[in-house]
Amino acid sequence: MRLSRYFLPVLKETPADAQIASHRLMLRAGMIRQASAGIYSWLPLGYKVLRRLEQIVHEEQQRAGHIPMLMPTLQSADLWRESGRYDDYGEEMLRITDRHNRDMLYGPTNEELITDIFRSYVSSYKSLPLTLYHIQWKFRDEIRPRFGVMRGREFLMKDGYNFDLTKEDALHAYNRHLVSYLRTYERMGLQAIPMRADSGPIGGDDTHEFLVLAETGESEVFYDSAVTDIKLGSRDIDYDSVDQCKAVMEEFTALYARTDETHDEAAFNAISEDRRRVARGIEVGQIFYFGTKYSEPMGATVVNDKGEQVPVHMGSHGIGVSRLIGALIEANHDDNGIIWPEGVTPYHCGIVNLKQGDAEADAACDGLYKALTDAGLDPLYDDRDERAGAKFATMDLIGLPWRITVGPRGLKNGVVELTSRRTGESEELSPEIAVSRIK
Ligand code: ATP
Ligand code: MG
Ligand code: MG
Ligand code: MG
Repeated sequence: MRLSRYFLPVLKETPADAQIASHRLMLRAGMIRQASAGIYSWLPLGYKVLRRLEQIVHEEQQRAGHIPMLMPTLQSADLWRESGRYDDYGEEMLRITDRHNRDMLYGPTNEELITDIFRSYVSSYKSLPLTLYHIQWKFRDEIRPRFGVMRGREFLMKDGYNFDLTKEDALHAYNRHLVSYLRTYERMGLQAIPMRADSGPIGGDDTHEFLVLAETGESEVFYDSAVTDIKLGSRDIDYDSVDQCKAVMEEFTALYARTDETHDEAAFNAISEDRRRVARGIEVGQIFYFGTKYSEPMGATVVNDKGEQVPVHMGSHGIGVSRLIGALIEANHDDNGIIWPEGVTPYHCGIVNLKQGDAEADAACDGLYKALTDAGLDPLYDDRDERAGAKFATMDLIGLPWRITVGPRGLKNGVVELTSRRTGESEELSPEIAVSRIK
């Protein structure tokens, strides 16, 4: 993309009403614009990051054997009356009436809708196990929308639902989700720690939240500092293996790590004092096992191998895709702007032309642009007729991991400058070598 043809409305001023760094930086970098309280338009740069995260989530869900689909945002109230949640859900649910006076709602989550789909088609245990998921906008009329996309009212969530014959099978689905979530966050360059949590309005027995440690997080968390040393890394996981998934789950959840809702002071105090941590975290996902909580009232049953009708065991599993962008920026920024991890960056590399209109500099930039594109990378070329300082400030603000600076002086010696956004270190290299350094 050439910046002269792009739409990147960066702001020079710091927005006054944005209280935390990620919110300020998303506004300043022209990623989002508030449409109304807690509801945002995703401008091109923000949309690009959102799509990158979605792509990672899709890949990791499908790697785990989960099947993508898409359910609508608007749902009929009748389904929610069947589960009993229409009245229970409270004011967070946006209720809508259509022209025929039918009660509708903007889905805050999809347990009812997916259970209805399941019961309409599946009747035998032979069709199980089954896990369906989608990435779709949700609406929750949060009492205090704030911190930009971190606590929006409309937000993008991946939500997946498993249907299994037995509790054991459903617990395997739970563990499989836990592993796939760990992989997802690690690929994004984030550490999200599974912590024992409370199940809230989704209900159920087993649940873990995934928390990114950050001072601006809304959750209070208590953990053994040794949990932060555990990484999934590049180990190979067979998602069909009950034992492997269980072993990873146990490894990641053996040490004390809980949110304030389930915090147990006595158990916490049993950890050696130098490892006790009280901190704040951002909830970027949650997994639930809730058995037959929805299948029973809604009649989602299958025939088992003895010919008996039994309600299926279910769980649901959510990732806050749009909130993750806020969490990523909270974890990766400095005074000058965002610092994208390579896995989620909107563009892999910025090209800054120090002398736009100079035939040699323009040709060198065009050559770099082509070489990067040919290498399968996505460059952003600042070809505007602007001061160098302004171009650098924009690149720092939007946080691309690499910048290649091209000017007539360097070109005389056959070099361009390659700068790492994270370390700030620069190197003078031939254009070919500069391109080969960017992955
Ligand atoms: P919170 O405790 O922050 O209100 P939640 O527990 O109500 O979140 P879940 O029902 O577990 O949320 O939804 C799954 C994921 O969706 C959450 O882990 C979070 O990452 C994301 N999410 C929930 N509410 C919001 C929101 N208002 N804005 C952005 N993301 C959200
Ligand atoms: Mg909530
Ligand atoms: Mg929560
Ligand atoms: Mg939650």
